[in-house]
Amino acid sequence: MRTIQNFINGSFKDAADGVTFDKVSPVTGEVIATVARSTKQDVDDAVAAAKAAVAGEWGKMPVAKRLEMLHAVADEITNRFQEFVEAEMADTGQPRSVMEHAFIPRGAANFKIFADVVKNVPTESFVMDTPDGKGAINYSIRKPKGVIGVISPWNAPFLLMTWKVGPALACGNAVVVKPSEETPATAALLGEVMNKVGIPAGVYNVVHGHGPDAAGEFLTTNKDVDAITFTGETRTGEAIMKATADGCRDVSFEMGGKNAGIIFADCDFDKAIQGIYRSAFLNTGQVCLGTERLYVQRPIFEKFVEALKNKAEAAKFGAPTEAGSNFGPLISKEHQSKVLSYYKKAVDEGATVVTGGGVPEFGSELDNGSWVQPTIWTDLPESASVIQEEIFGPCCHIRPFDTEEEVIELANATDYGLSTTIWTTNLGTAHRMADAIDVGITWVNEWFLRDLRTPFGGSKQSGIGREGGVHSLEFYTELRNVCIKL
Ligand code: NAD
Repeated sequence: MRTIQNFINGSFKDAADGVTFDKVSPVTGEVIATVARSTKQDVDDAVAAAKAAVAGEWGKMPVAKRLEMLHAVADEITNRFQEFVEAEMADTGQPRSVMEHAFIPRGAANFKIFADVVKNVPTESFVMDTPDGKGAINYSIRKPKGVIGVISPWNAPFLLMTWKVGPALACGNAVVVKPSEETPATAALLGEVMNKVGIPAGVYNVVHGHGPDAAGEFLTTNKDVDAITFTGETRTGEAIMKATADGCRDVSFEMGGKNAGIIFADCDFDKAIQGIYRSAFLNTGQVCLGTERLYVQRPIFEKFVEALKNKAEAAKFGAPTEAGSNFGPLISKEHQSKVLSYYKKAVDEGATVVTGGGVPEFGSELDNGSWVQPTIWTDLPESASVIQEEIFGPCCHIRPFDTEEEVIELANATDYGLSTTIWTTNLGTAHRMADAIDVGITWVNEWFLRDLRTPFGGSKQSGIGREGGVHSLEFYTELRNVCIKL
């Protein structure tokens, strides 16, 4: 059993009142850690430490040295790679291969890529004419915003947290991170890395705990937090936006999705099945970019449903430590109940269950974990709950379509606008669809292929603002103009 403490001003600390909460394994349901439950005082202390860091050594450090240190952070994560993999596997229950090939290495990369963006991206300058004929020069400089509150979710904890911490620190800010209560481990481990590398105390702080009336809310309501970057559910974003209205503080939001996968009859069929299997079931369907709605052109509809069913039924459930397992549990019992309630709703609303719909049985301690089967439905009207609402589980509804116009209307009939994945070999179709689907991110013949320099974010209720590459600089800095009269 591990004890996970807050990390405030360079030191690991219990909550001020000593209270903890339990972190439960999604694989077996047993308690694997006790975690500090932050008080308001703890959060205020972390914010004060961050503010002092920006005013102190960190704020005065030459940019080149700051960026070198962030490269060193990435290298130290790589040195301790297996510890990060084990910690994240224990918290999420997801397969080792996903941790080793995607979530942990990309977490490390987030420190290098944004250090390089800050080093290489210029600011603008304009020479202007003036009535006296002597002119003036304008140039802009970027300054850190100050203290950034980072509120992150549980589905890819290290990757999504560092996606914010990396650029925030590269731009010269200090951060107070509130990781999800479900996944506290890697944020804590990163505190050790920061100390090892010599990042000054107070630059990186972690406060554990829940959201409403707890660590999350204590952070968003502290007016010394200059901006909040948040990834999570849309309704949590609404609460955070209300809190940050007090003081008119800036927000960057990456929120929910109900993304459409669109498969045309002229696609490369095998590649489309591989891609859509990932988009529907990777990370047990707990990916904001995942596709819970699939639209398949009629000539290949039956064949597609059958092939995806066969692939889903070949999933190998198992603990991440078990060789060959490739399908993990949901994050928690609470989330399992939510997903199973949608499995029931789908049947109540008249779905044909192509596969799944229940819970796998193991005959071992895994039966106490939060497992569900990958599930596919057909034959529901578009008004059905499982087509309208984000479930965040390993499930999808598949519907046939005939024309581009029809599928554009279906794909856009949602309040969300995060991503889409389109499968076709016709370049014209690909361009027309990419233009017409109202989302922040479109993939053609691929899914979740990320170049960290590109804009990332959602339209409609899926987000506010864009992060990634130079776009992150827009949020994590204030751009100042200087006008010099000659
Ligand atoms: P969540 O909104 O429940 O929690 C996210 C974080 O917000 C947690 O740290 C939580 O403790 C905190 N929080 C909750 N209420 C709060 C409040 N009132 N004030 C301050 N903080 C509060 O989301 P989740 O269940 O952890 O994650 C799943 C959701 O995240 C899904 O909707 C998914 O689509 C979304 N997501 C979006 C992206 C994206 O990039 N768009 C990426 C991953 C996940």
